[in-house]
Amino acid sequence: MGFAAKRFAPRSSDAVLLAAPQFADILWPVFLLLGWEQVRIDPGNTRFTPFDFVSYPWSHSLLMLCAWATAFGAVYYAITRYWAGTIAVWIGVVSHWVLDWMTHRADMPLVPGGARYGLGLWNSIAGTMIVEVLMFAAGVWMYVSATRAKDRIGRWAFIAYLVLLLVIYVADAFGTAPGSVTEVAWAGVAGVVILIPWAWWFDRHRKGELA
Ligand SMILES: [Zn+2]
Repeated sequence: MGFAAKRFAPRSSDAVLLAAPQFADILWPVFLLLGWEQVRIDPGNTRFTPFDFVSYPWSHSLLMLCAWATAFGAVYYAITRYWAGTIAVWIGVVSHWVLDWMTHRADMPLVPGGARYGLGLWNSIAGTMIVEVLMFAAGVWMYVSATRAKDRIGRWAFIAYLVLLLVIYVADAFGTAPGSVTEVAWAGVAGVVILIPWAWWFDRHRKGELA
């Protein structure tokens, strides 16, 4: 989503466009550390993920994601006055619910405390990997077709970023379950702190073909 959005909002930094669809998972580790939301490490919960998402009404309900999308979009519009980017941010934040609804078992709430839904794609490892890798490839292709490297950073920092994402994906898919929830939360925080500025860095070194 974050890569594909570049075609729609070429003047937005892809750091912002990537942060929007990840926003639920940027909040989630923080809310875990604060004790506002709960997860249990439970290997086999679905075949793909060792987590039992006990409760995450503030970061992952559809209603709250609409609210976060509006807040994120409002701040972004106030700073940039760029409508295409603002719309991309709003759709990006809310898209997290739709995509998690496809993969998670029925643990995605519509409203805090309300009924929970999910199609459970994660119960099939092959199905998960086919859908996720194809979506990733399509997004990257759209970003590559919308931008061009201005220099070596624009090429190699971007390629290294893609390689890191794939390494993290494979490690998550085939590695052993994490030792504790605190470890999961801090890994999430570290991912955000590293990956968002990195995206800002390579995106600055690429020229928008459509901008
Ligand atoms: Zn999520």
